[in-house]
Amino acid sequence: MTFQYCNKCVMPNTKPDLSFDKEGVCDACRSAELKDTIDWNARQKEFEELVEKFRNKEGSNYDCIVPVSGGKDSHYQVYMAKKYGLNPLLVCFETNKLTPLGRKNMDNIKSAFGGSDMIVFERNPHVYKKMCFEGFKRVGDDFWPNHLGIFTVPVRLAVKLKIPLIIWGENSQLEYGGPKAARMTNVLNRRWLEEFGGLLGNRVEDMVNINGIRKEDLISYTYPSDEELKKVGITGVFLGYYFKWDARRQLEIVKRHGFKVKEDSPVEGTYVNYENLDDNLVAIHDYLKYVKFGFGRTTDLVCLDIRNNRISRAEGVELAKKYDGKVPNKAKREFLEFYGISEEEFNGVIDSFTNKAIFLIDENGNLLRDQDGNLVKRYPDYGFGIKSSVSKVAAS
Ligand SMILES: [Zn+2]
Repeated sequence: MTFQYCNKCVMPNTKPDLSFDKEGVCDACRSAELKDTIDWNARQKEFEELVEKFRNKEGSNYDCIVPVSGGKDSHYQVYMAKKYGLNPLLVCFETNKLTPLGRKNMDNIKSAFGGSDMIVFERNPHVYKKMCFEGFKRVGDDFWPNHLGIFTVPVRLAVKLKIPLIIWGENSQLEYGGPKAARMTNVLNRRWLEEFGGLLGNRVEDMVNINGIRKEDLISYTYPSDEELKKVGITGVFLGYYFKWDARRQLEIVKRHGFKVKEDSPVEGTYVNYENLDDNLVAIHDYLKYVKFGFGRTTDLVCLDIRNNRISRAEGVELAKKYDGKVPNKAKREFLEFYGISEEEFNGVIDSFTNKAIFLIDENGNLLRDQDGNLVKRYPDYGFGIKSSVSKVAAS
C-alpha cells in the first residue's frame, strides 16, 4: 500500500479499517458528512419508542444499564437517560489507576442529574495487572483487559439483574471511521466487540496460564452466552445512533452538571483537558498506537475538531505536529513504577511494535530519535497524497 494523509482531516491511511475514496478523503470524514444528512428528528422518535418499549412500567426494576467510566461521555449518557425519563443503573468497570480528578468525576456522576444508583465492579487487581502487562508485551496494548471488561461486565450484570436495555455512548466506527455496515448500526453486541472492541486478535482464553491465570479468574471478562442474552432480551444500543454526537457540545452540557476538566494543563499527549482524566496510563496506550500506526490521540482529536468545523485542516496540522507522538514521560515513569520493570525493558517492547516504514532508521536499522527522545516521522509535513510503500501490518 501507499502512505497517504486524508485530504480533509489529518488521518493517515495506516489506521486499521480506514479506507480512502478516489478524492483522497477518509471514510470517517465521509461519515461526518453523512451525519449531516441523517434525519435526527426521526432518530429521536426511534429513541423515544425504544425507551417506551423497555421502560419498567411497574417500577420494580431499573429501566436500563448505563456503562460508565466517570468521563464526559458517560456523564452525557446518564444525562440523556435521565432526560428521557429512564431510571438507569450505572455500571463502572474499575480502571487501572484512578486519578484524584477521576475520583471526583466518579463521585459526581452518581449524584448528578438527580442522582443514580451505581455499581463499581472492582476486579481482582493481580489478574488484571498480569493481563495488562501481557497485553503490553503481546499485542502492544496495556489496556487490553480494560477494553474487554468495560464491555463484558455491564452485559453480564444486565443478564443477572434482568435489565435488557444497555445504553452505550458513541458509535466509534461512525466517529472515527470503519466499515459502512458498522457505521450505520445502532447495536453493540458480541460480534461488534470481537470485531471493533480493540482486542487485537487476542482472545480472553489466550490469557489462561499466563503467570498463573486460571480460567475461573476470567469470568468477568467473558461475554454471556447467546442463550443467556436471548432469555433476558439484552439490547445494547449506541446513543450516537439516535443523537448527533458532538463531544465538545456535550462537554459544555456535562460541565454545567459538575463534570470537572483538568484545569492546569492539557492531558499528556494531547491539546485538550477533557478526556482520559481518570487514568494517566492511557497515555501509554495512545503512544503505542502512535508507534504502530503513526498517529496518536492528538490526531484523533484534531480530526474530530476538523470534521465538526471547529478548526481548519491547517490549524489541525499545527496541533498534530506540536502534540502528537511525544514520548509521554510522566506516564512512562508511572508505568515503570507500577509494573516494576526497567526502562530498557519498556523501550524494548515499544521498539518491537514500532513500524520502521513510518519512522526513520539509521544505517544499522536502529530507530532514530530527536534530542527529546521522540521518533522521527518519514512523512512529517501532512501534505496531500504523499505516497510511499508502507506495510500496514508490520507492527502487529
Ligand atoms: Zn479524513
